[in-house]
Amino acid sequence: MKSFEELLREAEIAHGHLCAGQILGVRMAMLGCARLGIEDPRGADRKRLVTFVEIDRCATDAIAVVTGCRLGKRALKFRDWGKMAATFIDLKPATGEQQRAIRIAALESSKQRARGLFPQIEDKNKQQMQAYREMTDADLFSEQWVRVPLHAREMPGFKSQRIACSVCGEGINYDREVLIEAEIVCQGCASPDARYYQPLTEEELANPNNKAGAELVPQPAL
Ligand SMILES: [Zn+2]
Ligand SMILES: [Zn+2]
Repeated sequence: MKSFEELLREAEIAHGHLCAGQILGVRMAMLGCARLGIEDPRGADRKRLVTFVEIDRCATDAIAVVTGCRLGKRALKFRDWGKMAATFIDLKPATGEQQRAIRIAALESSKQRARGLFPQIEDKNKQQMQAYREMTDADLFSEQWVRVPLHAREMPGFKSQRIACSVCGEGINYDREVLIEAEIVCQGCASPDARYYQPLTEEELANPNNKAGAELVPQPAL
């Protein structure tokens, strides 16, 4: 494992700036790896780790840098819970178990702690950056050993067959299809009103500035 400072520098480059979230994310991921006994998550141990993140914010980028888990490798799983927390799963623990997993969450009290430690620093981000470097793991995070049910098709190297949607014809991977009256249908065609996108109507295409038809469709809960 590289040093905290080296990883933070890499996270800064990947993320585009240095912020309190980078420091928190680097520390959270280093702690997760340490608890699992994973020394080299991006090298020798690179096929051992799957990470679930619960927020799409700054810290998430740092977690990806430290763990090497990426969305495109299927080793980074996103649950949109709006929580500063992540679960680190060792798929090949030295103990011989099927998996070992630890969920780590940032403590709500950490911000207040940062204020208390550095009241003289007015800028909140700078205050937190300084504090999050120095605070102990116990002051920053809660930890919990957990089990994560992971179907074979959710694993990073899973070879998926691809089948076509009977409505739109687009290919579907990883068993994400839905059966409707014995027809294979993709998620978008299965419930068109709940799609995250809506095709523009002829009228909207003709009048791009006409906002009448553009009110937002509420997103379904994830
Ligand atoms: Zn940031
Ligand atoms: Zn379809």
